[in-house]
Amino acid sequence: VSDAKTAVVTGSSSGIGLGIAEGFAAKGMNIVMNGISPAEKVEPLRQRLEETHGAKVIYVEANIMKPEGVRALMASAAEAFGRVDVLVNNAGIQHVAPVEEFPEDKWDAIIALNLSAAFHTIRAVVPGMKASGWGRIINIASAHGLVASPFKSAYVSAKHGLVGLTKTVALEVAEHGITVNAICPGYVWTPLVERQVPDTAQARGISEEEVKRDVLLAAQPTKEFVSVEHLSAVASFLCSDDASSITGASLPVDGGWVAQ
Ligand code: NAD
Repeated sequence: VSDAKTAVVTGSSSGIGLGIAEGFAAKGMNIVMNGISPAEKVEPLRQRLEETHGAKVIYVEANIMKPEGVRALMASAAEAFGRVDVLVNNAGIQHVAPVEEFPEDKWDAIIALNLSAAFHTIRAVVPGMKASGWGRIINIASAHGLVASPFKSAYVSAKHGLVGLTKTVALEVAEHGITVNAICPGYVWTPLVERQVPDTAQARGISEEEVKRDVLLAAQPTKEFVSVEHLSAVASFLCSDDASSITGASLPVDGGWVAQ
């Protein structure tokens, strides 16, 4: 039996969540990965985390847009590791459309995953964290949790809501050794973003470098993407005892975006 801490990272079969899971595995935590990809597709990633870092890693395929999915995720975590010490609410989706044309089902889905899923996971883990007198809850919000852009009504609403949820729960659990924070990334270089670059360059007749600087990074003063590794490092720091006085914070990691 190991006394390693156990972390649940939602939406960790790719992108930012995978990077955070990997950073936690490198710190010796047990990891509960989650996503909607089939288990056989995620298995090589799960194995890599275990083999590279000697961590114990399980993957739970669960659609956490539904409370039943959250319950299944938490039941698997409890069965494998007994308790959850660290929760990262990272799973999220986006849809871009003017508000008067915004599909109702997309609104509901974005609120369900980007906001309500975090309520359900937090609700599930807080009793155990209170019982052990230690916990870390990290919500991956966005620069769009702090400022808006047009045509992203559901995403901006959900991420602002997630920032509000972060502050509220931080106050409720502050005397129990539990911190609750939001990380607010700017544009992140995930495979999803990377794949858009060549097509955009071709469509606009400009170079890939121009796409990155003048299209994707127009709002980001550094003109550089935030890296998954930088976000993972911030998440790991928030889990450390050195960060125990940081709670209720919404930390921009955005190359200066929200300073404008
Ligand atoms: P991604 O698309 O690479 O990964 C999304 C993950 O969520 C995947 O593991 C996917 O399986 C999982 N997922 C999707 N729907 C799910 C569902 N219903 N139930 C459970 N899991 C589900 O995305 P990413 O770019 O790594 O984004 C991760 C988080 O970071 C999101 O909350 C996103 O809003 C936020 N964020 C991303 C950026 C960016 O530029 N990429 C910027 C700011 C914030």
